[in-house]
Amino acid sequence: MKLTVLGCFGPYPPAGGCCSGYLLQEDNCNLLVDCGNGVLSRLQHHLDYKKLNSVILSHLHADHYSDIMIMRYGLEISFQQGERFEPLPLYAPAQPETEFERLPYKNAYNVSALEPGQTLQIGPFTILPREGVHAIPSMAFRIRTASGIFVYSGDTEFDSGLEEFASGADLFLCEANFLEEDIEKGAPNHLSSAQAAQIAAAAGVKRLCLTHHHPERNLDQYLAEAQKYFPEVEAAREGQTYII
Ligand SMILES: [Zn+2]
Repeated sequence: MKLTVLGCFGPYPPAGGCCSGYLLQEDNCNLLVDCGNGVLSRLQHHLDYKKLNSVILSHLHADHYSDIMIMRYGLEISFQQGERFEPLPLYAPAQPETEFERLPYKNAYNVSALEPGQTLQIGPFTILPREGVHAIPSMAFRIRTASGIFVYSGDTEFDSGLEEFASGADLFLCEANFLEEDIEKGAPNHLSSAQAAQIAAAAGVKRLCLTHHHPERNLDQYLAEAQKYFPEVEAAREGQTYII
């Protein structure tokens, strides 16, 4: 399984940056996990978007799905030009309903609701969604193939259930939008890098990669706070690939 980080900032990107988007590939199957602003542009450095097999969205905050509203125009044109014949399967939490109802567009997408605990099979990817703790329903994904286990946190604040969900992952891609000082002030909806590292250590994951970087802060401070609990912690970088 190959992971390419397309975008790793939130809730907005710095100059030249991109919000959440991760391309997973195995056996000629191309799965896009999240599709925030800037992702469609970045994706095309690696893959013709018309060759996507499926998209799964952790949640319906704009920094995780706004380019879905743009990709539909390209898909519409690709139908007209005979370059694509089937709607692109798109999975997302069904809430907030007003956002979910905006996803279908002509024949661009075949939209389905994600149910926590209900396994999804997309080509070689066996995908288990789990709801975290966020302002709106947000899913973590445990994605298994013959080659390994990849776990992505989605957006969540601290949730001890994530330890078991991530257990034994070959790569745990975990959001860390906050520093410890934010948690001490009671900031909700996201993890600190130290919390992400504590979850990773308890879960016994092989690699921890932090993501959902704050666009205006120094990443080294995030890594330093995380290293106390998970010394080998890494930070996602746009364009970086991982073999899982
Ligand atoms: Zn969010």
